[in-house]
Amino acid sequence: MSLRKKFILGNWKMNLTSEEIQRFFSDFNESYNPKDKLNVGIASSYPYLELVKKLSMDLILTGSQNIHFENSGAFTGEVSPLMLKDFGTSFSIVGHSERRQYFGETSTVVSKRARAALNHNIIPIICIGESRAEFEAGTTFKIIEEQLIESINNCLFEGQKIFPVIAYEPVWAIGTGLSANKEQVDAVHLFILDKLTNLLTNLKLSTDSVSVIYGGSVNTKNCGELTRLESVDGFLIGGSSLKPVELNEIIELSF
Ligand code: PEP
Repeated sequence: MSLRKKFILGNWKMNLTSEEIQRFFSDFNESYNPKDKLNVGIASSYPYLELVKKLSMDLILTGSQNIHFENSGAFTGEVSPLMLKDFGTSFSIVGHSERRQYFGETSTVVSKRARAALNHNIIPIICIGESRAEFEAGTTFKIIEEQLIESINNCLFEGQKIFPVIAYEPVWAIGTGLSANKEQVDAVHLFILDKLTNLLTNLKLSTDSVSVIYGGSVNTKNCGELTRLESVDGFLIGGSSLKPVELNEIIELSF
């Protein structure tokens, strides 16, 4: 197994009310078995950050689904890194394909958000991934390279202590039940790791610093074989993370 950090992160998207979150944790906590060296976390909607932290009894990391790049100011509807830090947020998802698709987030903005997170010791989970049309046109690697380089711009610098995580999420696999197969995941992860190695080496940073996780219809059936791939450092999980029993099973079966 590589020395890169391992993560299993849930993305609840715009789901679960406080009552449902209470029910989630009363089930989840019953069978959650923390594993050495595995960082488990959940990204809830903003209003529930504190509730998730409290109910999870700090046994998991709490995260947000976005982050703004300024500390304060006239940015209606946004939440700043200072505010997130206030709530003990450990990680922030940036550039999720739903943000890129429905809210026009560009890789340039994603990179600014990610850098702001790092500046506040919050781990940015930078999402990249090709659409179905791009996949079918055979342009996956071109798209991945463009999104990776533009989104990570300014997020790697000499002497840094906290690093981004890259989440490879093929858009066609998100919420569709159609996970990429292990050969596809391996090929793209190895490609990303190769690009990262160049960037990290140029800055004299350890090539094990940045983890690459996979997202796209991860479930109890496909998690085992995917985590056996040396190139996979964990998962970003949507649908299956809403089900406490399934999430615990994925944690048990992975790594
Ligand atoms: C996601 O929300 O990032 C995701 C990968 O969703 P799902 O696991 O439901 O495909």
